[in-house]
Amino acid sequence: MLFPEIKYKQSTDGVLAVNLPERKKTRKVMVGRVAIGGDAPIAIQSMTNTKTTNVALTLEQIKNLESAGCELIRVAIPGFDAAEALKMIVSQSTIPVIADIHFDYRLALASIASGAAKIRINPGNIGGRERFIEVARNAEAAGIPLRIGVNAGSLEKKLLELYRQKPAEALVESAFSYLDLLERIGYSRVVVSIKASSAFITIQANRLFAEQASNALHLGVTEAGPLNTGSIKAAIGIGTLLAEGIGDTFRVSLTANPVEEIRVAREILQALGIRIFKPELISCPTCGRCETDLVNLTKTVETIIADLSLPLRIAVMGCAVNGPGEAREADLGICAGKKQGLLFRKGKVVKTVKLEQLIDAFKAELADELLAYNSRKEERTEC
Ligand code: SF4
Repeated sequence: MLFPEIKYKQSTDGVLAVNLPERKKTRKVMVGRVAIGGDAPIAIQSMTNTKTTNVALTLEQIKNLESAGCELIRVAIPGFDAAEALKMIVSQSTIPVIADIHFDYRLALASIASGAAKIRINPGNIGGRERFIEVARNAEAAGIPLRIGVNAGSLEKKLLELYRQKPAEALVESAFSYLDLLERIGYSRVVVSIKASSAFITIQANRLFAEQASNALHLGVTEAGPLNTGSIKAAIGIGTLLAEGIGDTFRVSLTANPVEEIRVAREILQALGIRIFKPELISCPTCGRCETDLVNLTKTVETIIADLSLPLRIAVMGCAVNGPGEAREADLGICAGKKQGLLFRKGKVVKTVKLEQLIDAFKAELADELLAYNSRKEERTEC
């Protein structure tokens, strides 16, 4: 396959920066007030793990997730009592609520009636194509999108043999067969997700699909695992596709507090430079030249910048000899020596202080940076 061309731009200070990957153009659908696909920002999703029938607890978790940066939330609808509870959740949630349906198409119909902003359904596990079509017709009448999910667990029998030999091709063929059905009834508000628990198969299948179709894509690696290993797997699976311009929304599925899913999702987008949520912290791995406790110093700086949302690069480096040069892309950086500390901007030392004054000096420089950033922002917004 041909990989997308990486374009570089030369900034005024001579530092090379990578342009954002060219995003594949997809058909935009609206999930409540949030757009997926087209030119919309890549939306971050998560899923509650409370009992949906416990409305108060579910709403509390949605609120926490929203505060962390979640833009779309999915709730499980395992029964009709959950579909009924959905009414209250939808009416009180400030982010669009998606109903997650398995096995019983009537739960999808009940969720549409309860005001779900989108239905997530695996057409392969709801008991036949007629039922799937009935859900689509109801979704069309309500003006809401469907996310059709395809994964190994819900593949039709006739594709299982192909899956054993060519799993990515089998998953994509399954997705197209459902899209054909929807096209026949004139339903087009579709988001597609093609997932496997293998990051590699997920990548291959989504590449293959994106080459042939323009439907909005929801990315994910199913059952990615616990926090550490799952984050890495998701970052590789989802991050590789995003770096190629594929994907319009995604969920990082972790066996952890769902707030962690949002944290990891933001880190993936930030690492690729696709969406910037906070300053980027660069810190060196330390080596035999380091004469200070850089791990703790980095933690301190991380805490200081934790609540900032300005797009700065901050560096924390372990020695004065190599630090400023190695981190010359940083807008503001510090180096810690045995007794002295340095502050630098874009590789140039701007101040030398005693080691014990380094953090205060850093805070003062950061405050100046914040003022300058805010006044630049005001200038840009003035008519
Ligand atoms: Fe080693 Fe200094 Fe480079 Fe850190 S900045 S890795 S301490 S040479």
